[in-house]
Amino acid sequence: MELPQRPGSRLDSYVDRYAARTRGMTASEIRALFAVASRPEVVSLAGGMPNLAALPMDSIATVAEELVRESGTVAMQYGGAQGDETLREQICEIMRLEGIEGHPDDVIATVGSQQALDLVTRIFIDPGDVILAEGPSYVGALGVFASYQAQVVHVAMDDQGLVPDTLRTAIASVKASGRRIKFLYTIPNFHNPAGVTMAVERRPEIVEICRDAGILILEDNPYGLLGFQGEIYPALRSLDTENVIYLGSFSKTFAPGFRVGWALAPHAVREKLTLAAEAADLCPPAFSQMMVSRYLSTQPWREQIKAFRAMYLERRDATLTALSELMPAGVTWTKPDGGFYVWVTLPPGLDSKAMLPRAVTARVAYVPGTGFYSDGFGASSLRLSYCYPTPERIREGVRRFADVLREEMELRAAFGHEASRALESREGVDTPGPDLA
Ligand code: PMP
Repeated sequence: MELPQRPGSRLDSYVDRYAARTRGMTASEIRALFAVASRPEVVSLAGGMPNLAALPMDSIATVAEELVRESGTVAMQYGGAQGDETLREQICEIMRLEGIEGHPDDVIATVGSQQALDLVTRIFIDPGDVILAEGPSYVGALGVFASYQAQVVHVAMDDQGLVPDTLRTAIASVKASGRRIKFLYTIPNFHNPAGVTMAVERRPEIVEICRDAGILILEDNPYGLLGFQGEIYPALRSLDTENVIYLGSFSKTFAPGFRVGWALAPHAVREKLTLAAEAADLCPPAFSQMMVSRYLSTQPWREQIKAFRAMYLERRDATLTALSELMPAGVTWTKPDGGFYVWVTLPPGLDSKAMLPRAVTARVAYVPGTGFYSDGFGASSLRLSYCYPTPERIREGVRRFADVLREEMELRAAFGHEASRALESREGVDTPGPDLA
C-alpha cells in the first residue's frame, strides 16, 4: 500500500500554545541515540533493553493461548483501576522476597513502573517542589520530574550507594533556601546508571533521615532480583511501611513488552494514587496483567530469573574483563553485582558527550553522563549497558571505545583543548544529527 505524503507542520505555530510544563520536556540522550545505535554495524552499549533470548517462547505461547481460550472475555475487557486482584496477590508474594509485608489492597498495578513514577509525581509535586535524587539518576525518572516542573537536587553516591551524610547536608541546604522537599527518589539495588548498590547498613539510616525530615521515599527497584550471586537485599519499604512508596516491575524479570509494573503505597496514599491512575488510563491493560499472572502461576519464574542472572553475569564479566584489559590509564568504572550497567569515569577534561559522534563513527555507542543529571553535571562520565549484546560484541565494543578514548587522550596531551576541534574537523567524520550532538 502506498502511504499518502505526510504534510509538514510549522513548529512555530504551536510554540506559544504549549503548557508551561512542556518546557522541561526535551528528548533524552538515550532516545536520540536509539536511531543511530540500532544500526547493525554499531555495537550498542547504550540502551538498557532486557535480553529476551532466554525466554521459553513456546511455553509463553501456550500461556497466551490458554488465556484467550479460557478467560478471553475477561482478559479483553476493562478491568479495575487498581489492577487484577490475583496479580496483586502474586506481587505481594514476590515482594516478600525482599522482606516486604504488603497487602494486595495497597498495590496498584501500572503500565510499567514508569507509569507509577508518573502517577506518584503527579499526586505529590507542584511546580518548584524539590525532589532529591541520586546523582546520577535514571533518565526516565528525570524526564517525569521535569514534566511536572520539579526541581531535582542530586545527592552524591559512592560505591556503597547514597551517602547518608551527603543526604543530610542536601536536606539542610534545600530547607535553608526555603524550598520544599517532597520526596527522595532512589534506586537502591544495581543502580541505573551507576551500577552500585546501597549498602545494607546504610538503609536504616537513610530511612530514618527521611522520616525525621518529613520526606517521603520513592524506592524504585526494577533490578532487585537480578543480583548475580542470588543475593536479595531488604527493601527500604521493609524498614518503613508508612514513609516509603515502593515501585516494582516485570520488565526485567519477565518481559517489558507486557508493560506491567506496580506501586506499593502506604495505605493512606493508595486512594489518591488509584484516582490518578484511573484519570490517566481508566485501568491497566487486563490482557497484559492476566498474562503475567498466568505466567507466574504456571511457569517456573524463579528458574527463569536464575537464567536471566546467569546471562547478565556472563555479560557483566565480559565487560569488566574487557575494560580492565583495554582501557587507558586514568579511566575508572564501577563493578556491578547485578543489573545491567557500568558507570565509567574518564580522566578530568574529557567530555563524553563531545566524544560520542566519534565513538559512533567508530561503531560503538554509549550514553553520555550528562543525560543522568538534571543540572548539566556528568560530562566526564558515561554509562555502558551490557545487557543486550553478546559477550564477543561487548568486547569488540569496549575495544572500539578504548581506541577512540586513547586517540582523544593522545591528542589532548599533544594539543590541549584544540584537540577536540581538530578531531571534529577531520575529513570523513560522520557527525550525527543535532539530536545526538
Ligand atoms: N526505573 C528504572 C530504574 C529503570 O531502569 C526503568 C527501565 N529502564 C524503569 C524504572 C521503568 O521500567 P518499566 O516501565 O519497564 O517497568
